[in-house]
Amino acid sequence: MRETYDAIVLGLGAMGAAATYQLARRGAKVLGIDQYAPPHELGSTHGDTRITRIACGEGPEYSAFAARSHEIWRELEAETGMELLTQNGFLAISGAGQRSANHGVAEFLDATVAAAKAAKVSYELLDSAALRRRYPALNVADGDAAYHDTVSGFVRPERCVQAQLQTAAARGADLALREKVVSFTQDGSSATVRTDKDTYRGSQLIVAAGAWLPGMLKPDLASRFMVTRQVLYWFRARSEGAHALFSPERFPVYIWQLPAPQSIYGFPATGGLEDGVKLATEQYDVATTPEQVSRTVGPDEVREMYETYVEPFFPGLSPVCARHKVCLYTWVDGARFIIDRHPDFQRVIVASPCSGHGFKHSAGVGELLAEMAVNGRKPDTRFAFG
Ligand SMILES: Cc1cc2nc3c(=O)[nH]c(=O)nc-3n(C[C@H](O)[C@H](O)[C@H](O)COP(=O)(O)OP(=O)(O)OC[C@H]3O[C@@H](n4cnc5c(N)ncnc54)[C@H](O)[C@@H]3O)c2cc1C
Repeated sequence: MRETYDAIVLGLGAMGAAATYQLARRGAKVLGIDQYAPPHELGSTHGDTRITRIACGEGPEYSAFAARSHEIWRELEAETGMELLTQNGFLAISGAGQRSANHGVAEFLDATVAAAKAAKVSYELLDSAALRRRYPALNVADGDAAYHDTVSGFVRPERCVQAQLQTAAARGADLALREKVVSFTQDGSSATVRTDKDTYRGSQLIVAAGAWLPGMLKPDLASRFMVTRQVLYWFRARSEGAHALFSPERFPVYIWQLPAPQSIYGFPATGGLEDGVKLATEQYDVATTPEQVSRTVGPDEVREMYETYVEPFFPGLSPVCARHKVCLYTWVDGARFIIDRHPDFQRVIVASPCSGHGFKHSAGVGELLAEMAVNGRKPDTRFAFG
């Protein structure tokens, strides 16, 4: 048995890296444990970019996390010299007729406007003519309209994890990498974590295990979460000229409620023509686990994606898929987050802020987790197990 920590963080992805960094900043004696060496490509925090928005159509309760995360990423940029956050603007596009919901919100454009008002984010509304004029890469329909703001953009998930872990380690955090937690429990004065290599004790334990979380909970708690397979695609533009229309100076991040079954979202080009332009849709039909998920993407899947979601809306993108990656959502009904004390172990805090929109909030969530662990901050009841 090793020394006792103020806090142990199980899982060093988006949420765990942020919590470890915030604990180290507060001078806490902290141990972070991960079965791999984050950033890695087997969980939910890879694929180069994540959309960040302060006006969250998922609910105004998320805005404060995103706004605080922007501040933290700017601080980390200053400290590490890494480029983490690009504020190139955001479009929420919708239109007439039946449209796909986004993260379970049918009227996502209207909900984004409401969230912008609540968070005091300046925005404008664009009609289809303005969208065509400003963003010729998009093939919008007559009657389509969009919300647009300039505080949104994209953040680099792998770099954020790396920056927070390296800064935490520089401030004295212990990191146990390639070490798998096999169980955790608590007695009166501490939480005990058993790994495949050692046993550790901490006054508090934060479980930020992402898609592995349901496998660590008893069935009635695990049933709140559904893990789903998602695929990210990078399609090549047809020409250098078409690629240039996707440059971050000219092209924002977007969420587009389509007449198709699902909405799409995407990013500006962050590399050259050969690297392609990233976009994705979502699926909630088939549940999986990190162990069982298929991590290969076949040609039929790529073709279906292109024909249904790319070709009709982005005439400048070709069917050539430069690369694709499989990633995991950990979904809670209503796209909610759960950030709460474990119902059976009061020294254990469970953090599952994913539901497909967690990264933009992760730095702020890490701060909340650290405050709950070492400064006695109460959980926010809006994110309770319920
Ligand atoms: C395709 C896709 C697109 C997304 N797009 C966006 C977006 O545009 N904007 C946005 O805000 N959010 C987005 N998200 C959501 C966001 O990326 C997630 O909310 C976030 O990355 C989740 O982080 P996490 O820390 O919960 O999980 P992870 O980063 O997966 O971390 C969990 C960690 O726990 C470790 N672990 C698990 N079990 C054990 C164990 N037994 N022992 C030791 N270690 C363990 C794992 O190895 C892993 O490193 C997207 C997610 C996906 C999959």
